[in-house]
Order: sequence, then structure tokens, then C-alpha cells
Amino acid sequence: MSDLEKDPAEVIGTGECDGPALELLEAREVVLGRTTKVRRLLPNKNRRMVGAWCFVDHYGPDDLTQRVDPYDAPGERGMLVPPHPHTSLQTVSWLFEGEIEHRDSVGSHALVRPGELNIMTAGNGIAHSEVSTPDAPPMLHGAQLWVALPDSVRTTTPPAFNAYADLPRLELDGAYGTVMIGTVAGVTSPAPAYTPLVGADVTIDAGRTLTLPLTPSNEYAVLVVDGALSVGDLTPGFGELVYLGASRDSIELVASDNGVRFLLLGGEPFEEELVMWWNFIGRTHEEIVAARDAWQGAIEAGGNDRFGMVPGYDGAPLPAPPLPSATLRPRPRAR
Ligand code: MN
Repeated sequence: MSDLEKDPAEVIGTGECDGPALELLEAREVVLGRTTKVRRLLPNKNRRMVGAWCFVDHYGPDDLTQRVDPYDAPGERGMLVPPHPHTSLQTVSWLFEGEIEHRDSVGSHALVRPGELNIMTAGNGIAHSEVSTPDAPPMLHGAQLWVALPDSVRTTTPPAFNAYADLPRLELDGAYGTVMIGTVAGVTSPAPAYTPLVGADVTIDAGRTLTLPLTPSNEYAVLVVDGALSVGDLTPGFGELVYLGASRDSIELVASDNGVRFLLLGGEPFEEELVMWWNFIGRTHEEIVAARDAWQGAIEAGGNDRFGMVPGYDGAPLPAPPLPSATLRPRPRAR
């Protein structure tokens, strides 16, 4: 997915984490293109990152046969994100329901399906498209996540796309799930990560309490995608994210009477300062300007050294919006 906002805000995070926390973070609604409405949890005005997770969009469940204006467009159904670039990050596509077709400039063509991890590593530059195909199932529910790459690899690791259809399962007392990335309760995913990182899709049975083991050097958050849970005196429901902080060796999560499904996101606090603008991550204003120029040049030339085009995509790539007049500058990770 892409940040399609016409006038994207400048967002920068710096590493800062001071022990356990319990913060309820609310989403803001963002319209992507003409066909998809998402709830953006990160960056949040109160917190910009959790570990290296720097972007969290939650969308659906949407019945693609029941679209209403202004999100419906003639001949378009579900997600329609034309080719757009990324730098210095990984995208993680995770579906709870539905199907999305992914294509990218390294030649990948994949169907993203529920329970399968699709992770794209941008390195210095990649472009991809994501669309709902005409024969996709009617319901679409998922999350699009970005992981910031550390400076040591962000421009040198080659652009790549990896899909994992057979991820390790979590079987816990009263709960079960899938480890997308990193290690949860001793279960480790094969997906590549460049900083200590955790992602898992967990369901707790109705009314049950899960004591989930955590790694104290990581900070964590939970994003509820179905049902509700209690953690401390907070009761996050659908689409709400609770930041748990760090320095915990476990957390007690209590499912509502209807059960709960949530994404667990975590990792070692990311200490490097980031500049995030549109679909680019960099370290300086100048770097963002260079990435934008390279992308616009790639559109003109049909691909260049930094950004290739997306083979098999039927349509025009997405031009970058105008840069803001102000210089992009660092801001603290937490307000
Ligand atoms: Mn994208």
C-alpha cells in the first residue's frame, strides 16, 4: 500500500523508550486513492514508532460488493494502488480476509492471502502496485505495515520480495496464532528482519486470559482487529492500538466474552532519526528530495537506475505530490 495523501505531513521519529506504558492510540481515517479507506495507527500524533514499525494502516473488513460513494469508482473494486516507490523500509502486507495482487519492479507477481506474510525490502529503491483483482473474494480486511531499515543496510541491501505461506504457529493456553516475524513465546518466523523485531497475529478464546511472554528489551503494542480485550484498565476494541512500552517480561491480556484477535507488534526501540515523507524514508531533507526526483525521473524515462517500473501493471504509475515548502526536520519519537 502507499501513502496516497495529496499533502503528506512530515513525520520523523527518534528512539526513546522509558519502561512499561499503557497508552491507547486512536486511528485517524485516511482515504487512499478513490477506492480504499484506511485507519492509520502509526505514525500517531502521540507516538510515531514501535520498535522499527513506523507505519500501521488497518483497513476493512469491507464488502467490496457493497461500496458506497465517495469510495466507489466506476469499474473499480476494492484496493487500487498504482505503482509507487519506497526507500529504506520494508513493507509487510498481512490479510485477515480477502486477496490482493502484488507486483513490483524486481519482477515479483504474488497473490497476498490471509495468514501468509508478504514482505518487500526496498533497500535504496523499489516500486510496487497492489490491487484487488476482479475475482478476489468479496471481503477485504488487512493491515499494511512498514519497518524502518537501519542505516547499516538501508541503501545497500538489494531490493527484494519474499513470501511465506507456511509460518510457524503459536499454540498457547487459551490462545493461538501465527508468528509473522521475529520470536514470540519461543516460536520464531523465518522472515528477514534487520533489527530485533516482532509481529504476530494472535487470537484469545472468549473470556480467556493470556499471559503473553515478552522480551524486556523490546517495546510492544497490540492492535485489536476483532472483538475486544482488557489490558490493565484499558479495554481496546476494534481498530484501537495500545502501546505497552518496554521492560516487561510478560503481559496479561483478557479476551472479551466474544474473544479477541489482535496484532502484536514490537521490537527494540529504533534509535536512529528518520525522515518520513510520502512513501520515502530517509535521514535528511536532501535525501527525500533526491528520492522524489529519482522517482519522477523514472516515470518520465520508464525506469532508471534507482526505480524500475512494475511489469504487468496495466496503468500509469503514481506521481509524487509536491514537496512541502518547509525543510523536513527531525521530531521526537514520542510527543
Ligand atoms: Mn507501498
